[in-house]
Amino acid sequence: MFNPVDHPHRRFNPLTGQYVLVSPHRAKRPWQGQVEKISQAPSQSHDPDCFLCAGNKRVTGDQNPDYRDTFVFTNDFAALMQDTPAAGDEQDPLLKLEAARGTSRVICFSPDHGKTLPELPLPAIEAVITTWMSQVAELSSQWEWVQVFENKGAVMGCSNPHPHGQLWGSDFLPNEIAREEQHQRDWLAEHGRPLLLDSATVRKFMVGFEMLAETQRDLTPEQAAERLRSLSPVHYKANEVTP
Ligand SMILES: [Zn+2]
Repeated sequence: MFNPVDHPHRRFNPLTGQYVLVSPHRAKRPWQGQVEKISQAPSQSHDPDCFLCAGNKRVTGDQNPDYRDTFVFTNDFAALMQDTPAAGDEQDPLLKLEAARGTSRVICFSPDHGKTLPELPLPAIEAVITTWMSQVAELSSQWEWVQVFENKGAVMGCSNPHPHGQLWGSDFLPNEIAREEQHQRDWLAEHGRPLLLDSATVRKFMVGFEMLAETQRDLTPEQAAERLRSLSPVHYKANEVTP
């Protein structure tokens, strides 16, 4: 008899309208692949060579203020620019493109170079959330979409250990957002309830089969939720809860 904990199946993701291949039996296999070392964040609270630390000069020559909680500035190497000229209308349908405008900001979570976001005291984390909210409100007045995210650690391509994240405003809806918005509209019209209040998703890196065919998971959404619920509230680097 079919059992979703033991048998491969495809699970519908109502947010994207796509199916995810779930192979829960694979979680029982012995793991002989690479195991990442736990990276220890630098312990120093100020690095004179860090371009995000308070009071330091950045590559542009701009000097960071002596900030106390969060600090936001436009990325010196922004991926999006406000004044990109419009692309021409005369285009080959096989080589279609459109201009992309926007802005990319950096948010320093704390002046403490040696801490990561979950290691900060609660009032400092609250200051980060308040800054996210005010930044999203401000950027939303100008841009179609505002994406808040953090590339954390060298494996994610993060070039600086200082605790920081990014805020990108764009004059277009990115692919994933456009797809999710459409499915949320459809769900609301069909069920009369917001989709995000009825569901949750868990992120995982995409490899091999996923890149070329379909998203795949080794655990079911229920198992993922159970793991999240059973996580310790104590940070793995700490012996006791951060006050
Ligand atoms: Zn720093």
